[in-house]
Amino acid sequence: MNQNRNVLLTPGPTPVPPEALKILSQPIFHHRTPQYRKVFGRVSLGLQEVFQTKSNVFTLTSSGTGAMEAAVVNFLSPGDTILVAHAGKFGERWLELGKSYGMNVLSVSAPYGEAIDPAEIRKVLQVNPFTKAVYTTHCETSTGVTYDIQSIAEMVSKSNAILVVDAISGLGADPLPQDEWKVDVVVSGSQKALMLPPGLAFISASERALALNKTSTCQKYYCDLKLYQKAFLDSDTPFTPALTLVLALEETLKLIQVKGLRSHLNETARLADATRAALRAIKLELFAKSHPSNAVTAVKVPNGIDGEKLIKIMRDEKGVTMAGGQGSMKGKIFRIAHMGYITKEDLTIGLQILCETLSALGFQASSEEAVHYFNETYKRPTAKEVYR
Ligand SMILES: *Cc1c(COP(=O)(O)O)cnc(C)c1O
Repeated sequence: MNQNRNVLLTPGPTPVPPEALKILSQPIFHHRTPQYRKVFGRVSLGLQEVFQTKSNVFTLTSSGTGAMEAAVVNFLSPGDTILVAHAGKFGERWLELGKSYGMNVLSVSAPYGEAIDPAEIRKVLQVNPFTKAVYTTHCETSTGVTYDIQSIAEMVSKSNAILVVDAISGLGADPLPQDEWKVDVVVSGSQKALMLPPGLAFISASERALALNKTSTCQKYYCDLKLYQKAFLDSDTPFTPALTLVLALEETLKLIQVKGLRSHLNETARLADATRAALRAIKLELFAKSHPSNAVTAVKVPNGIDGEKLIKIMRDEKGVTMAGGQGSMKGKIFRIAHMGYITKEDLTIGLQILCETLSALGFQASSEEAVHYFNETYKRPTAKEVYR
C-alpha cells in the first residue's frame, strides 16, 4: 500500500468523516441507560428524515443483507407469491432470499446495465393479482443503474402488493422520498451513503407492511420486527445494539442535516456527473445504458486491458481503491463510488491515478483532460438538481 495515500472509492464501505471517527474512539458504556436511549431516539428521528418517511425506521445490528432478510421473513408466509424485479447481483439476492424461505418467486428482469421497465411489473401484477410483495433495488450497486422507483411504486401501490426497495447504497445518494412515492418498505445499511463502518442495517415499514407482519408465519427470531416495534416504544432495541455505531450515526446524520438533505443529494449528483464527464472525456464507456446512479459509476474495462490488474495496481501500488465487477462482470467493469463522504479531491486523485495506470497498461488516457472535464462539469448545476 502506498503509505502516503489511502483513497477509498468503493461502493461500500465508504470513507468515514472525522466527526464520526472521533466518536468511534470513545470509551464504551452501557446501552440500557437513559443516556443511550436519548441518542437512539434522536437517531431514529434523524433516520426518518433521510428516509423521508413518517414510518418508524428500525435499526438492526447486521450488515445490510440482514435487513433484506428481515424484509422477507417479516411480511410473508411460506408459499406466498412475490415478484422480484432485478437486473444485477443485488437484485438477484432477493430471488435467493425468496426461494430460501419457500416463496413462489415470479421475476421481471433486464440485462445487466439496464433499468427495470416499470410496465413489465404492471403486466405481471395484472396476471398475478395475489402477489403479496414486489422486491426491487434502488441503486443496483453492481451495475451503477438506479431504477425508476417512483413509477414502480405508482403501479405497485394500486395493486394488492407491498413494495420493498433495497436502498442499501442508494439511500442518501439518489432521491427516494419514501412516503411521497408510496414505497412500503425501504432497507438500508450503514457503510454506503450513510458514511459509517459496516454493522448497522435499517428497515422502515409502512402501515400496510406492518399489517402483513401480524399474519406472517415465516420462521424468525433475531429480526422479528414485532420485538423491534415493542422496544422502539422505549427508544430501545430488543438486543444489544452496536451502540458505538449508533452514536457515530448521530454525527453523520448531523452532517446531512446541517447541509440539508436536498443539498447533500445535489452535491452527490454533481460529483457523479463530473466523474462521468471525466470518464467519457478519456474515451471510456459507461456500463449503465440509462439511469446512471449518483451513488456509483460502473465503467467498461477497455479492450486489451486486464481489469483485475488495473484495480490491483491502483490499490496496492498507488493507494486508490476502486471496486471490480461482480459475478459475470468480473474483469469486465470497474466501479467508482461518489456517495457519502467521498470528496471532489478524492475523485480528482482517483481519476488522475486511473489515467496514469491505464496509460502504463497501454490505454492512453490524459489525466489533464479528465480533471479539466471533471472540474468544468462540477461547476455547472446539473439537470439532476431538480431532485428534492
Ligand atoms: C452493499 C449492498 C448490499 C449488501 O449489503 P451488505 O451490507 O454487504 O449485506 C445489498 N444491496 C445493495 C444494493 C448494496 O449496495
